[in-house]
Amino acid sequence: MQDVVIVGGGMVGASLAVLLGEAKLNVTLLEARSFNVDWQANSIDARVSAITAASRALLASMDVWPGIIARRASAYTGMRVWDSEGSGEVVFSAADVGVAELGHIVENSAILAALYARLEALDHVQCIDNATIEALEPLATGRCVTLSDGRRFEANVVVAADGARSTLRQLAGIEVSSHDTGHCAIVTTVRHEHSHGRTAQQRFQPTGPLAFLPLVIDGDSRYSSIVWSADVAEAERLMALDDAEFSSRLASAFEHCLGAITSVEPRHSFALTQRHAQRYVEEGFALIGDAAHSIHPLAGQGVNLGLMDAAVLAEELAWAKQRGAPLHDLRILSRYSRRRRLDNTMMLTLMDAFRVGFASDIPLVRLARNLGMRGVNGTMPIKRFLARQALGERSDLPARIKAHL
Ligand SMILES: Cc1cc2nc3c(=O)[nH]c(=O)nc-3n(C[C@H](O)[C@H](O)[C@H](O)COP(=O)(O)OP(=O)(O)OC[C@H]3O[C@@H](n4cnc5c(N)ncnc54)[C@H](O)[C@@H]3O)c2cc1C
Repeated sequence: MQDVVIVGGGMVGASLAVLLGEAKLNVTLLEARSFNVDWQANSIDARVSAITAASRALLASMDVWPGIIARRASAYTGMRVWDSEGSGEVVFSAADVGVAELGHIVENSAILAALYARLEALDHVQCIDNATIEALEPLATGRCVTLSDGRRFEANVVVAADGARSTLRQLAGIEVSSHDTGHCAIVTTVRHEHSHGRTAQQRFQPTGPLAFLPLVIDGDSRYSSIVWSADVAEAERLMALDDAEFSSRLASAFEHCLGAITSVEPRHSFALTQRHAQRYVEEGFALIGDAAHSIHPLAGQGVNLGLMDAAVLAEELAWAKQRGAPLHDLRILSRYSRRRRLDNTMMLTLMDAFRVGFASDIPLVRLARNLGMRGVNGTMPIKRFLARQALGERSDLPARIKAHL
């Protein structure tokens, strides 16, 4: 019997595998796709993540950050958020909180490639790709996962890290509270006329937020990854436009802040559904990352929350293993759930409030958000608080993260 079987080798599941492997727990990582990730220096992955300082510290503590930097990571030092319907804006910089940068924009494929390379060096982790899960059964001291080819994996703890539509969560019979935001996010990489000056920018429109995440490619700071959220009908219209028309609509939706859009890569569209599992743990079973919660990307928090889940669960399991406690015990797994649920719930609620508040065209709500933004922008302690949130700093961070911040 293994200590832990992780289903799902995305950024969160693979991080948990590294953390547990380092702590010398015996781990099997099962992934539906291949572990050969196609990161290339001469093309830019459309899927990127805004990695907070806390997540960077975690990845550094796992010796994965150097592999990410060796591929590509774009540090950003400023943040600007404004409302298309008024004059309110919030601007803050790394200098406001005395740090060198607020975070990094990193291609997801660069993170995965670095994580998989790190996993190869860990003796206690077995990685199996192209795996199709057939069944999940309870055992006296854990769970058993069966693959479609008949292979069985018994473990004290089975962790579902298989994303927002988690098969494992369904097999375990854990319900989710979910609501369709009615939005899709269009993502792509664009090049623009002016430098972004390493500032992440987001414009709130009644139809949804539009974010420009700054990328620096071969020293050129005229690239951004964009996340354009819009209701489904509008997103379909935007996806159907040819590149020239899309570029022109994008530049004007962004008030030409970065000048004209000079090139655009292929676009991808994602339906945005907010989900939260009704519980994160059962005896011998835990959910982490998007399998536990999926969140609107407007504050770029999804993978950061998932990485914190992985760090806290790994910390609890490693302590339990050290003192010889049974890993499948619900009391141990519940400590993970207690430590993460509040933080995740707060972020899910906050993102929903932002999304609804900025979409509202009720005059009083518009007035309130403009006054609110101007108030925030003029008040240094609140700006510092927001910057600390953007950095991913929380009260209950695992010790290894605090040591690397
Ligand atoms: C448009 C958009 C923009 C975003 N931008 C940001 C951002 O800037 N910052 C941020 O923090 N987050 C962002 N997010 C959210 C972020 O992408 C997710 O939170 C993150 O990918 C979740 O990671 P995960 O490992 O939990 O799940 P996933 O990335 O979904 O990985 C799940 C893994 O499990 C595998 N899998 C699935 N089913 C099975 C199965 N049955 N058996 C075995 N393996 C399986 C999949 O192949 C995959 O590798 C964004 C999301 C979207 C849609």
